[in-house]
Amino acid sequence: MRKQYVIGNWKMNLAWEEVLDLCGELKDFMHSLPKTISIGVTPSSPYIPVVMPLLPAHIKVGSQMVSAMESGACTGQVSAKQLDSLGTVFTLIGHSESRALWNESDQELAQKVSQSLETQLEVVFCIGESLEVRESGDYLSFLMHQIKAGLFHLDAKQMKRVILAYEPIWAIGTGKSAQPNQIQEVHQALRGMIATQYGEEVANSFSILYGGSVKPENAAGTFALEDVDGALVGGASLKAQSFAAIAEACVSQKSI
Ligand code: PEP
Repeated sequence: MRKQYVIGNWKMNLAWEEVLDLCGELKDFMHSLPKTISIGVTPSSPYIPVVMPLLPAHIKVGSQMVSAMESGACTGQVSAKQLDSLGTVFTLIGHSESRALWNESDQELAQKVSQSLETQLEVVFCIGESLEVRESGDYLSFLMHQIKAGLFHLDAKQMKRVILAYEPIWAIGTGKSAQPNQIQEVHQALRGMIATQYGEEVANSFSILYGGSVKPENAAGTFALEDVDGALVGGASLKAQSFAAIAEACVSQKSI
């Protein structure tokens, strides 16, 4: 059985008082979830160390960003070592918003992955095609390029500390999730690409999350798909009740 994750990406949302409220509500709504599901949230960087003791121990805290540099004269950046030293468990890398906003290149993303895996951090590597690429029909080779450039420099042992998140850009924050057949097609193809590079054993235990307007209404249908191993959730993670409902749908669909 592959590990199942439901990760809330808080993005640049929530003032401090709202973070406090959300943490309190998450404690109430999430306490009955089994420990077999991995739950994570990614607050904005300054909140990370203060949020940790406010959350139940089984909700892991991750970072939305990490520097490609190791340390030193990099004003405005946060290193993997610094995040690790705070007890941060994982970091997002390659989110489409960061790729677009900061012009992150394939090489820079690959470097961020390597820097992170030098520490105890796990990596949630995000990939996804634009509407234009989807409509061109060439989306699988586009995604193959993103995985190859960002991850295929890793050896199999390192790859086991990576989680992939497939997030079609046209479904992020739009309220329109991809259709179940579209999601399964891509996830199955991604697992095949990983099998070709790293072998069946790595591919079959490798978690691939879906992200893009996951909400309580479509969560069960998404988690029912064979090659979906959880979700990266944006908007719906800002309310404890909807985030908990998504996590519960994962537990029930995957029978964990
Ligand atoms: C995201 O930003 O990773 C995301 C999936 O956002 P949303 O759920 O709001 O589409």
